[in-house]
Amino acid sequence: MSDKYVSWGRYPFKNQKGVDLLWRDDQLPVNTNFLPQGNARSYGDCCMNADGMVVSTHNLKHFISFDPETGVLRCEAGVLLKDILDVVEPQGWFVPVTPGTKFVSVGGAVANDVHGKNHHVAGTFGCHVRSFELLRSDGARMVCSPSENPEMFSATIGGLGLTGVIVWVEIQLKKIANSAIDLETIKYSNLNEFFSLSAESDANYEYTVAWIDCLARGEQLGRGHFMRGNHASGNRKKPSRRSLPLTVPIDPPVSLVNAFSLKLMNALYYNRQRTRSKQTIVHYDPFFYPLDGVKNWNRVYGPKGFLQYQFVVPAENSADAIRETLDRISAANCGSFLAVLKVFGDKPSPGMLSFPRPGATLALDFPFQGEKTHALFNQLDEIVVQANGAIYPAKDAHMKPAHFRQYYPNAERFKEFKDPNITSSFWQRVMEPSA
Ligand SMILES: Cc1cc2nc3c(=O)[nH]c(=O)nc-3n(C[C@H](O)[C@H](O)[C@H](O)COP(=O)(O)OP(=O)(O)OC[C@H]3O[C@@H](n4cnc5c(N)ncnc54)[C@H](O)[C@@H]3O)c2cc1C
Repeated sequence: MSDKYVSWGRYPFKNQKGVDLLWRDDQLPVNTNFLPQGNARSYGDCCMNADGMVVSTHNLKHFISFDPETGVLRCEAGVLLKDILDVVEPQGWFVPVTPGTKFVSVGGAVANDVHGKNHHVAGTFGCHVRSFELLRSDGARMVCSPSENPEMFSATIGGLGLTGVIVWVEIQLKKIANSAIDLETIKYSNLNEFFSLSAESDANYEYTVAWIDCLARGEQLGRGHFMRGNHASGNRKKPSRRSLPLTVPIDPPVSLVNAFSLKLMNALYYNRQRTRSKQTIVHYDPFFYPLDGVKNWNRVYGPKGFLQYQFVVPAENSADAIRETLDRISAANCGSFLAVLKVFGDKPSPGMLSFPRPGATLALDFPFQGEKTHALFNQLDEIVVQANGAIYPAKDAHMKPAHFRQYYPNAERFKEFKDPNITSSFWQRVMEPSA
């Protein structure tokens, strides 16, 4: 048993049995259930298999082909988005969709059908996947694409690793003139203003997202910084990458994120910008990956770990649901520093179980405080269920079985495509709970 294979939130697991695949033609384990794992950057238990083992693709790190004319890249599933950027960005290409960390594997990006700040323009990562090879536990290999094994293609995108091991992936990259981002940051005063900014920005800005001060109340509820940007034009000089790598070297004995530090950090962060609007050209790293600058930042939550709560609610219910969420968090005397709000577009997600759908999505981090945290999440669940929303499995360690079936009506059909020898702690919790 080792903590090498433990998820990013470090809750509810402290260790996990695992083996590493070394080559594309390796055999899978027999006589045991297992789960494919990428770089374990999921927060909860969708990349964990407490009662069995995980099969890590960590070492499947080879590029197979790249055409600098067309931007079509084929690589092994364990290649990280960081590795791709290092190779293709100097040649004028970029990843088509990226989550808030570049330390995710391509296989993990497919299996959670991840989204980024350009969802309103580009949809999910799965929208840019041309094909992949799937290895089933019986040793069968199949190439899946929109035209070859299309149902397995759709089940595997957002399929939480449960249909087989993705061995390699072919994606269409995005052509760019400049990897730097021409960024405007607007300090806004409340939730209504957020929605106006978002609506007015979608047509002209490829990337939009807001950080919100989730401790602000009353008239200021939902206030924050709205960031909107595009890749800079080719003639602009690229700013240099942030130079000082920071690290959290040890586990503090308790969470450093508490009521006092949250109040301080939120107020300081909100007020760090004096003017309403600020225009800058920034390196893509701090824009897309602000947290990657601090190695092991998940340790600040201490030995009990932390949870994220990310939901999406349809547009007609967004403002009320988000207002109520922030009120309940405040009433529970909890708070989050990493509170991110974004409006998804309406480009359909290709996966049977993909999370992104039209509406507003809010993501919040909480230190795990035992029953208090679950009690708060139960209250937030009521809001999401009432608002006809959904919770994101990649961030989850709490969702109830009935809620999963409501959020993901294809769950029953998905079982047809699930590999019989693959399972996860998440799947057992939401689809096979013991009585
Ligand atoms: C700081 C931070 C910011 C984030 N921001 C975002 C964001 O903005 N948007 C977003 O969508 N997500 C975000 N995430 C979540 C993250 O993008 C996803 O959890 C992603 O799937 C993690 O990839 P991974 O390689 O670490 O996969 P893991 O976490 O190891 O696994 C994720 C899932 O993929 C499956 N899997 C992994 N590899 C394979 C494979 N080769 N074959 C089959 N199945 C496989 C696993 O079984 C599991 O179900 C963020 C995470 C962090 C830590």
